[in-house]
Amino acid sequence: MTDIIHLLPDNIANQIAAGEVIQRPGSAVKELLENAVDAGADEIKLIINDAGKSLVQVIDNGKGMSETDARMAFERHATSKIKSIDDLFRIKTMGFRGEALASIAAVAQVELKTKREEDSSGTYIEIENSKVVKQEPVAANNGTSIAMKNLFFNVPARRNFLKSNTAELRHIVDEFIRVAMAFPDIFFSLQSNGQEVFHLEKGSLKQRIVQILGNNYNAKLVSVQEQTDYLNIMGFVGKPETAKKTRGDQYIFVNNRFIKSAYLNHAIMNAFSEMIPKDSFPAYALFIDLDPAQLDINVHPTKQEIKFEDDKIVYAFVQATVKHALAQFSITPTLDFELDPNIQRLDAVSKPMSSEQKSSTSSSSLYQTFTQKNQAHFVERNSDLKHWKDFYETPSTPNIPLSTSTLPSLHKEYESEQPMMQLHLTYIVVQREAGFILVHQQNAHERILYERYTHAVAGKPIATQQSLFPATIELSASDAVILQELLPDMKELGYQLEPFGQNTFVVQGTPADVNMGSEKGAIEKIIEQYKHFSNDLKFSKREKLLRSMALQNSIKAGIALTQKEMQGLINDLFACETSNTTPNGKPTFMNFQKEEMDKMFGR
Ligand code: ADP
Ligand code: MG
Repeated sequence: MTDIIHLLPDNIANQIAAGEVIQRPGSAVKELLENAVDAGADEIKLIINDAGKSLVQVIDNGKGMSETDARMAFERHATSKIKSIDDLFRIKTMGFRGEALASIAAVAQVELKTKREEDSSGTYIEIENSKVVKQEPVAANNGTSIAMKNLFFNVPARRNFLKSNTAELRHIVDEFIRVAMAFPDIFFSLQSNGQEVFHLEKGSLKQRIVQILGNNYNAKLVSVQEQTDYLNIMGFVGKPETAKKTRGDQYIFVNNRFIKSAYLNHAIMNAFSEMIPKDSFPAYALFIDLDPAQLDINVHPTKQEIKFEDDKIVYAFVQATVKHALAQFSITPTLDFELDPNIQRLDAVSKPMSSEQKSSTSSSSLYQTFTQKNQAHFVERNSDLKHWKDFYETPSTPNIPLSTSTLPSLHKEYESEQPMMQLHLTYIVVQREAGFILVHQQNAHERILYERYTHAVAGKPIATQQSLFPATIELSASDAVILQELLPDMKELGYQLEPFGQNTFVVQGTPADVNMGSEKGAIEKIIEQYKHFSNDLKFSKREKLLRSMALQNSIKAGIALTQKEMQGLINDLFACETSNTTPNGKPTFMNFQKEEMDKMFGR
């Protein structure tokens, strides 16, 4: 018997480790941009070919690397950014794990060119499979250029897992925006397949936000700023009237790092509550700065989740500050001052932090040793905000034992104009010979629309009504990528949209049943819904669109229906191929047998 355990060769170990850091071209974009920022560059260019699948290149004018450092940089755990565990609590750089370049070198072909100001010549290195295949001195500008070619060329299984170019490009644009937004004093550009998609001159944060989110935010941003000993917050929120049906333009940064936080998002939404309709989302770009010791950025390798030492205080602070800013803009006369009755009706605006909150801050465990915080599995503490999660959860299919069945013979029975009854503005009671059925109006309409749309894309296009005064929609760059992708299918569905310059579309026509004037909101909602589905691999792009539209355009619960409308709905429902469930499998109606009811009453 021989022993069977052996050490994995470095390149394989690196490939495995790379899986956590580099999942797709977008992850490389994030890492390379962050390295350029850390190198002190004030000009950073991103060049992409083939949605990053064949090339991701970042060129910066930062401090460059020495010849030895240039080789070292690709080793695992090679970093110039921390030396000891204590440094973790003083992090001022974007990176610190020393894993990104090693990971990239394990799963792609890399070409590095770098030069420091003090050196007369630069260094050129080519790496493949974690091995240096070429190294030579080279004439170069100060700074660094890293080109990552043919991502996953040596891991075909992962290459096949990459999504369509449109989807991968969208991830890249998201990552690019998240870095560019946080550093307005750095010039950024993004070139994709030879075309410049972004050209962001240095400027103020406000200018950067407008450059990225679109000109329609010009003069529509409210400044948010508050400083305390514990934390600072600064940034902008969109005025209530700019709230959209999509949640795209929302950014939170902690110590200049983009984070995803349903919890803080909730705090901001709360500050807006009463000022915007329930199903719309304000834009915001907020920067929270606090002592790195108050954070655990070690939670997730891609570092988008973050744990605050005291998240309740951060929540209260964010909410109060945003609320304060919103109230402030309505009482400070400015050039673009608009009287918003909703804001005037607001209660007295709470101060950023009450003295109670302040004392609880200072008595909280700020200065504890890091033994208990900073754990990767750090458990979120209980909060009394029990329902904040509802915000993010999409409605799930209830697990009701179905008593519905498809009853083909029903159709005829309902053609007779018998009176129907609406209950709770949600249900329709339809009497039939053998009992009655209870129809859920939204679920039923969702099914009807879904089948209508399915037929539309299968060759029976829905009629378009031409807009008399075509509206334009300006979207964020990433939403524009989505809409562009959906244009051909949307045309079959009656939406005639035309690209009109950067991230802008003109609505030339809509389906006949969309009210003129509300086409903008309708389209934004469809995009938002589409994004909800977008991680669902089992659906095609088209299927996602059909489902999104059916969901968005269906009559909602709470809408009063006339006899004629109820009649129409029921007729359409039973003319469907599958009338008993929504596309997602929720029941559209329940069947109640008279016989069963008689039994219940002992008859
Ligand atoms: P980390 O950023 O976590 O330190 P990386 O693998 O991303 O790890 O980079 C390793 C090291 O290579 C960095 O610590 C830095 O010293 C150097 N480096 C990477 N990119 C650049 C760059 N664009 N300019 C200068 N130095 C760089
Ligand atoms: Mg890095």
